[in-house]
Amino acid sequence: MDTPNHPDKPLSPQAGGTQGVLPEDMETLMHVISHDLRAPIVTIQGFCQELTMACDRLKTLFEEEAMSDAVRDHINPLVTQDIPEAVRFIRAGADSVNTVTSGILRLIRLGQMDIQWERLDMNQLMMGIVSSLEFQLKKKGVVLQIQDLPDCMGDEVLVTQVFANLIDNAQKYLDPSRPGEITIAGFIVKGWAVYAISDNGIGIPSEQHATIFRVFNRLSPQQGKGDGLGLAIVQRIIHRHQGKIEVESAPGSGTTFRVFLPRAIDVEEGGHHES
Ligand code: ATP
Ligand code: MG
Repeated sequence: MDTPNHPDKPLSPQAGGTQGVLPEDMETLMHVISHDLRAPIVTIQGFCQELTMACDRLKTLFEEEAMSDAVRDHINPLVTQDIPEAVRFIRAGADSVNTVTSGILRLIRLGQMDIQWERLDMNQLMMGIVSSLEFQLKKKGVVLQIQDLPDCMGDEVLVTQVFANLIDNAQKYLDPSRPGEITIAGFIVKGWAVYAISDNGIGIPSEQHATIFRVFNRLSPQQGKGDGLGLAIVQRIIHRHQGKIEVESAPGSGTTFRVFLPRAIDVEEGGHHES
């Protein structure tokens, strides 16, 4: 197994994750995305709602008014089909731009925020995630096994996001033709805590192993809803922790994601000391 650089001594946290971009440029970029780009989308969504209401009023008027059959035949398809369909397309376009802009903002913020390092009890953290997914897992009849997991250093909120995304994927991309099985295992390799999330789902072709981490990249949209953002966020968070993620998978036999997080970290520079 190819481990990240071996932490013989505790890792030193690096600042930010937006290398090569000036902080003031990043501020401008975030302002453009959150205001200049999103404001027109909100306007479009608002006016779609207005148009739908206006169309509903027209339909009612049209039903109540006396008019010739010829006129009725011309107007009816406009208010019942053409206009509502056009509004649906406009709204779907605006919603997808909205998803993309919120995704970009989330990724930029992830690169900027400070990591709140602490020692994480991963057994406890994983139980919290699994209990929030319990209903979905039960509904799908998934057999879930969690082994004893080693501690690591990390930001509780961000590390929770990592494993919530990976377990969500594991249950979302199961193969409907066989009972679902998900296993969460953990072990220590040199100075790293390694966590393996395995499923017996549909699997991922080897030529897609790198692309699944790209933003907005989805291989199996028919398997369930998603924005194609989860793994990009997962990878970003793990890199901010100076760790790594690797995937082992084959179509038809399932997938294992392995996450490497540090066991120890020197956070003296960040204002407090952890040994
Ligand atoms: P989101 O996480 O934003 O809701 P998503 O699940 O589609 O949407 P990612 O988590 O980034 O996005 O995953 C990208 C793609 O990788 C998925 O759409 C799916 O095709 C594939 N994938 C991810 N995890 C698995 C898995 N455990 N088994 C099979 N395919 C997977
Ligand atoms: Mg996902």
